[in-house]
Amino acid sequence: MTEVAMAPPDALPPPPAATAEIELIGGPPKGEASLEARGACAWFGDHLVLEDVDLLMPAGHVTALIGPSGCGKSTFLRMLNRMHELVPGAALDGEILLDGEDIYAPGRRAQEIRMRVGMVFQKPNPFPAMSIRDNVLSGLKLARIKTNQKDALVEQSLTRAGLWREVRDRLDRPGGALSGGQQQRLCIARSLAVQPNVLLMDEPCSALDPTSTRRIEETIAELRTVVTVVIVTHNMQQAQRVSDLCAFFLAEENEPGYVVEKGTTEKMFSSPEDERTLRYVEGEFG
Ligand code: ADP
Ligand code: MG
Repeated sequence: MTEVAMAPPDALPPPPAATAEIELIGGPPKGEASLEARGACAWFGDHLVLEDVDLLMPAGHVTALIGPSGCGKSTFLRMLNRMHELVPGAALDGEILLDGEDIYAPGRRAQEIRMRVGMVFQKPNPFPAMSIRDNVLSGLKLARIKTNQKDALVEQSLTRAGLWREVRDRLDRPGGALSGGQQQRLCIARSLAVQPNVLLMDEPCSALDPTSTRRIEETIAELRTVVTVVIVTHNMQQAQRVSDLCAFFLAEENEPGYVVEKGTTEKMFSSPEDERTLRYVEGEFG
């Protein structure tokens, strides 16, 4: 009996595919990108729901958006990859800069932005009847990206999403056969396969059990080296565990949401400037 044979699979180093460069034809420019909102406002019809948000989400970091329900966090996230405009009657103002260039500038295509800024939702939404492998590759087809290293890309994406070891022997099984937590990691792998510069996550663990939640949190911590992450969470422990920076959103009764305070997660949780931030992170409301 050897020590190596006893080691749990997660203690082994990641396979080479996790770090190798895989060439995508027609994919986004490589690397992490910063996002910055300047004077961002959002409306549904004539209802202003988000007012004058200035926020830098730096490349290679995890930024958490926190705050009570209804204060515009999801709306803000959807502005960051041009999904807000898909809602009938939705409008916006201000600038969203992706590596310094406004994603709403004339001539920029929403498809290109959504390829560069991926999104994972609250409820895992893999294609249930499609194989695990094809789920991972499904975003490429939509974005018209090609690669001759499909197997390596599937392995890399699943490895980065922390799912490879659990599914490598059953890549042809349907995505819908996985547990909820595994499905969410499959969705993360699908988003990563197009090699986005930024990954947005809207309460990615709120439908999951604590063990799956921890697994996703570990994944997020590792993703920081591959992609810029912006995550909405209602779980204050989670925000502290996974994020480098935090922004606290709030909306008074019948008023638009805005950012009360932003800064390093450390400061926001230990010595915030605003008394409302302190009360929120200590769980007094929301
Ligand atoms: P959060 O994610 O912080 O809970 P949302 O961004 O979902 O907040 O919502 C912000 C505000 O916008 C809320 O008042 C909500 O009712 C409103 N809202 C969200 N989506 C829509 C929509 N599709 N149509 C109209 N109003 C919406
Ligand atoms: Mg929301």
